[in-house]
Amino acid sequence: MTSMLSAWQQAARDKLLWSYGYFQGRSIVLPRNFTELYALVISKLTSFAALPLPLLSFLALPIFGGTSTSFSLLVFYLSWSSLVFSHDPLSLEIYGTLAVRIIFFLLPALGFLAADIATPSLSKSAKAYGEKNLPLTVANGRLMKITGVAIFNVLLQVALQAVLEVLCTEFLHLRSILKVTVAVPLPWNLAKDILKGLALRGVLHYYIHRFLLHKYNIPLKTQHQRWQHSIQLPFSLVAAYDHPACFILSSFVPDFLPAYLFRYHVITWHLFVALTSLEKVFIYSGYAVLPSSIVLAGMARRTDAHFATASRKGQGFNFGHWGILDFVLGTSCQDTASVMDDLQDEAQKHRIEERATKAARGALDGVTEGRGSSGSEQEEEDEAPAGGDNYNDNEETAADDKDAQVKNESRASADARDEPAEQAPVKRRSGRRAPRKA
Ligand SMILES: [Zn+2]
Repeated sequence: MTSMLSAWQQAARDKLLWSYGYFQGRSIVLPRNFTELYALVISKLTSFAALPLPLLSFLALPIFGGTSTSFSLLVFYLSWSSLVFSHDPLSLEIYGTLAVRIIFFLLPALGFLAADIATPSLSKSAKAYGEKNLPLTVANGRLMKITGVAIFNVLLQVALQAVLEVLCTEFLHLRSILKVTVAVPLPWNLAKDILKGLALRGVLHYYIHRFLLHKYNIPLKTQHQRWQHSIQLPFSLVAAYDHPACFILSSFVPDFLPAYLFRYHVITWHLFVALTSLEKVFIYSGYAVLPSSIVLAGMARRTDAHFATASRKGQGFNFGHWGILDFVLGTSCQDTASVMDDLQDEAQKHRIEERATKAARGALDGVTEGRGSSGSEQEEEDEAPAGGDNYNDNEETAADDKDAQVKNESRASADARDEPAEQAPVKRRSGRRAPRKA
């Protein structure tokens, strides 16, 4: 018993000594002042930013191809091999995936969102369903939540990939899920792997989305409706806005399972993630003008119709991205136009109600003005928000007419159905002005 205790003590002492020595060794590389900390952060950031460089140079090949193609290939191979020698396989895979997801999904999606918020009139004209596609239809607080959840979900899928890799290599002592080797895949093999991956991803996404998120009455369906389908028409960031469980099932599993089954090379994986990320950015964007006017625009309109049917009618159509399975299995939305008409009617009804309220308020203001000048300040605020406080009646009328003209112009670009209703505010306004001028 005594000998066992002493052996245990000895082992504990050895472990303690080893840990002390280990931490002493590690502490040498830790920053000791602000300059060293700054240098460490910069070196980590540059190393992180360098990870997708081989992929970017690879993607640039078709653009800057021609006579320098062999040179570009050489640059690509050299930068790739230097990365493999200077990073461990796990960091290369995980940080590379993170960088690709940020560059090809988060940044463009956030850029589109910023553009929609900064220039709504310009974005409206580029969107297929005008202002209904704009993120401004979502309240500010909710927009923050959508952005936060989307960023969280993107990071979550990268973290999950890291956990799966560590589980395989460190705990189960199996080979890594993805191949990280200096030898790069040949272009033909790479293209074949990507095509097989896209096909399998499409099938997985379709069945998971249709049955687990829309058909069976399970908590996943409720959460998918409550989160993603609380939005009537999508914008790019909505592609990653869903309950984390639904998102992992419908997005990460269809992406990662083909990579696991075909044991992708890490370069193939980064390229695959870049392509699928860009696909999501475009087909959820709501933009009518897209790089590929037939394929991507068709996919985008089908995605819009999926959101419109799911949020309004509950059951939903168009579960796949490509539309092939929907067509073959009879789940494509046959009457997208009528679904959009319904949405349009609802929006129009909403606008008419809004105008009726404004008209009632305007009439009240007019009555108050007739009695005294107390209502004029309020009206000035309502009618000419950009104007100063001390303009005279003529200026006010001119500003008002300009306001009416701008509104008319913007409404003329909207659908023709709005026309009868659009005339109302102009007539009302001129009628209301008459007693004031007299
Ligand atoms: Zn759905």
